[in-house]
Amino acid sequence: MRSLIIIGSGPAGYTAAIYAARADLEPLLFTGMQMGGQLTITEAVENFPGFPEGILGPELMNRMKQQCERLGTEIRMEEVAEVDFTYHPLTVKTAGDAYQAKAVIVATGASARKLGVPGEDALVGKGVSYCATCDAFFFKGKRVAVVGGGDSALEEATILAKVADSVHLIHRRDRFRGGAALQARVEANPKITPVMESIIEEVLGNETDGVTGARLKHLPSGKTSDLEISGFFAAIGHDPNTEIFRGQLEMDKEGYIRTDDRTHTSAKGVFAAGDVQDAVFRQAVTAAGSGCMAALEADRFIAEMEDRVYPGDRSPS
Ligand code: NAP
Repeated sequence: MRSLIIIGSGPAGYTAAIYAARADLEPLLFTGMQMGGQLTITEAVENFPGFPEGILGPELMNRMKQQCERLGTEIRMEEVAEVDFTYHPLTVKTAGDAYQAKAVIVATGASARKLGVPGEDALVGKGVSYCATCDAFFFKGKRVAVVGGGDSALEEATILAKVADSVHLIHRRDRFRGGAALQARVEANPKITPVMESIIEEVLGNETDGVTGARLKHLPSGKTSDLEISGFFAAIGHDPNTEIFRGQLEMDKEGYIRTDDRTHTSAKGVFAAGDVQDAVFRQAVTAAGSGCMAALEADRFIAEMEDRVYPGDRSPS
């Protein structure tokens, strides 16, 4: 039996752990398979306050982890397989064990979306990638394609253009949705060729050669053509990691966990923070902020359960 279990090891989970540990809740945190979350596949982070020169994503996450541990968080590199939030105490199960907790903070984040076209799955790791920062290095001097029209796609195209010979940036609309500054950077880069109003029908390649091309369809004309490439990067957004909470927590139609403005979910004693409940801002700093809120709310909830007086509830004398 634990006071608090935190599921997830991105900025939301780690920040919740820092606050919870300092409140003597002795939190147990399950990292999941991708310890450190999405920032571990990010290059330089320049918008997290306190790092005037910027900081590498993996380093930032490692520092957060160290801070959690120093303050007394127990960190387990395990994935949560099942939860039961219908009864108190709450139950959290991993492959091998079952744990009970007075409160749970869900901070499982979001994952890169797949296109779902033929060839994509079979060629993951053989030329198909969802992270230019991680894999650009393998495409030095090669031709690659990036799919998507948001900030991620524009950024990934720019990252790839530093090493690749050429980058085709394929988008299904006639204009990008990404920010003006990133668009200007893409337009000014001679290595990047925008391919507008086009969709991917198939990723071409085989086990031996990896990705060899992509079959495109130009939407206004309906014409298909094959583009010769050896790297295929999809940057079409993210989906929240909420599969294990289906039937346990209320979600919106896209699977994001519904919370009130104080991180409360539909289940008593369960709080959600970060990208798993935020389809709008999705920033490390907003995730960290909501992780802090979730920890304070969890502490308040546990205090009420134990009939303690929460410091914030004392009326001024
Ligand atoms: P996003 O803004 O949701 O953009 C996803 C893009 O993929 C859209 O252009 C969308 O097309 C396209 N798309 C989605 N499904 C598709 C499909 N099945 N086939 C083809 N195209 C598809 O996602 P994001 O770019 O990952 O950005 C997410 C959030 O992170 C945003 O808030 C963004 O501002 C932020 N972000 C910021 C930075 C930065 O500031 N440096 C970098 C990365 C991300 P439509 O346009 O037709 O919808």
